[in-house]
Amino acid sequence: MDTQVIIVGAGPVGLTLAIDLGRRGVCCILLEQKAAPQFLPKMERCNARTMEIYRRLGIAERIRDAGFPRDCPMDVFIVTSLIEPPLLHLSYPSVAQAQAEIAACNDGTLPLEPYQLISQYTLEPLLKSVAERMPNVDVRYGCEFLACEQDGGSVRARVKNGNGSTAVLAAHYLVGCDGGSSTVRRQLDIKLQGEANLMELRQALYRCDDLFDRIPIGKGRHYHVADAHSTFLIVQDSTRHFTLHSVVDSDADMQTMFERTVAMPVKYKMLSVGRWRQNLLVADSYFQGRIFLAGDAVHLVIPTGGLGMNSGVGDAVDLSWKLAATLQGWGGPGLLASYEIERRQIGVRNVEASRQASRGRRAWRAAYRPNIRDQTLEGAETRANLSRIADVEQRKSNEMIGAELGYRYRGSPIIWPEPGEGPEDNFMKYVPTTWPGARLPHLWLADGAALHDRIGDGYTLLRFAPTQADTSPLERGFTALGAPLTVLAIDDERARDLYGYDLLLLRPDLHVVWRGDRLPDDPAQLAAIATGR
Ligand SMILES: Cc1cc2nc3c(=O)[nH]c(=O)nc-3n(C[C@H](O)[C@H](O)[C@H](O)COP(=O)(O)OP(=O)(O)OC[C@H]3O[C@@H](n4cnc5c(N)ncnc54)[C@H](O)[C@@H]3O)c2cc1C
Repeated sequence: MDTQVIIVGAGPVGLTLAIDLGRRGVCCILLEQKAAPQFLPKMERCNARTMEIYRRLGIAERIRDAGFPRDCPMDVFIVTSLIEPPLLHLSYPSVAQAQAEIAACNDGTLPLEPYQLISQYTLEPLLKSVAERMPNVDVRYGCEFLACEQDGGSVRARVKNGNGSTAVLAAHYLVGCDGGSSTVRRQLDIKLQGEANLMELRQALYRCDDLFDRIPIGKGRHYHVADAHSTFLIVQDSTRHFTLHSVVDSDADMQTMFERTVAMPVKYKMLSVGRWRQNLLVADSYFQGRIFLAGDAVHLVIPTGGLGMNSGVGDAVDLSWKLAATLQGWGGPGLLASYEIERRQIGVRNVEASRQASRGRRAWRAAYRPNIRDQTLEGAETRANLSRIADVEQRKSNEMIGAELGYRYRGSPIIWPEPGEGPEDNFMKYVPTTWPGARLPHLWLADGAALHDRIGDGYTLLRFAPTQADTSPLERGFTALGAPLTVLAIDDERARDLYGYDLLLLRPDLHVVWRGDRLPDDPAQLAAIATGR
């Protein structure tokens, strides 16, 4: 074997997977067809859950240092231009303000980390540099995946190196993180289902050094223009770069649209123009044998609501510990198979959340009338009507905290089947829960530490004082399977009250496997379920 895992594609998902596998001691080769990361805009917001994950990978602060300044507001505006009174101004806290809110709140409703705006072209080189420093991760740019075949024991990938030569690499597993037009997915003949090519927009990238400081209507991150072209302006992380998206006929029109939106004389340069299409698609399957798929290779959302890369990062960390466990010998045969069961339902769910957000966007845009700028009674009515609708509908894109934090792995074979339906899913609202399958709500302990930070990389049994429950049968169950379990005693009444039970079994990715006040009758069965047996 050349390595344990081959990862195809060094987008944010492949890079995150490589880093998490690397820190779990798994050897991998990361193949990327591009010679180097490109300066092309795509995503710009890591959501709160992704930042919690990056905190566990030890890179959250580096990402914040490289991203949008911590004191800049994350406000969203609906405008006719940057110099006219906004039709709607939605205020969202800067990272610094959000961190202060999180520090002051201890009811489990807030994430441990707030969002962070960072442009994909900044994030990818940063993740690349982290992956490259890991001794067991071999990062190969300029190396194209061509095809693969598998049998019961290995996967062999044919690759084209930067010098044009081809080679065959063998590994135990291969993961296709190769984006929307995934070669790996096509090879496996796995189809995408849903709605494709819903709308085509042009996106241009501009450098304009003084615009951000000069915006008279207030600083924010998104400026949606109420026009007939679905135009919106996005501030990139440097605050010196901007992207504008618009439905126009030619690349040259993107210059006109930028000047019309900015509506004041500024010195700027249009650096690039590209086209992109809106899709709402999910793959029929997330794996075949030893070959797995993650990220845009298996789900494509409308970026409205920012669930694209963020969903893919969730895939990466679900798959990563299962691959590590299987390669290290303590993961049972059901562990890797649970990846599709757990993550495909989240793909479907997030496509639905994105559809809901995008419908909201369409609803207020439908209220646009050409008289929107007129200083007449009718013009004022158009503005008032659009603002009123947008005040409800635009929030569907910006306030999906339930979609980000509240996902739960329903019906997973590696989660204890607690009787009952469990809490309802609400994209717009996060209600903390320890229902099996859910992410452990964040809580500050009495000593000021975050409970998440106390939890290690294996399974953890949280044991709240003053319980006298005997947990040794479960510990013996894990030991018998060779699976890592840490018992973490917590003497914190508040945490016990919020979590609702004396004992909580967590997986390596902080999702709850089981909860109770005493162990189930057959603790060995709980250990077997948790480890995929
Ligand atoms: C305008 C826009 C705005 C967006 N905003 C957000 C946002 O705010 N938040 C969010 O979460 N998402 C956002 N997204 C979506 C986000 O950009 C994608 O979901 C994300 O890039 C997916 O990451 P990925 O690693 O799965 O795939 P990609 O980023 O597509 O990376 C795939 C990689 O695989 C490589 N590759 C492909 N084929 C091969 C091959 N045969 N051999 C080797 N390498 C190969 C490619 O070169 C590429 O580097 C946005 C998208 C767009 C278009």
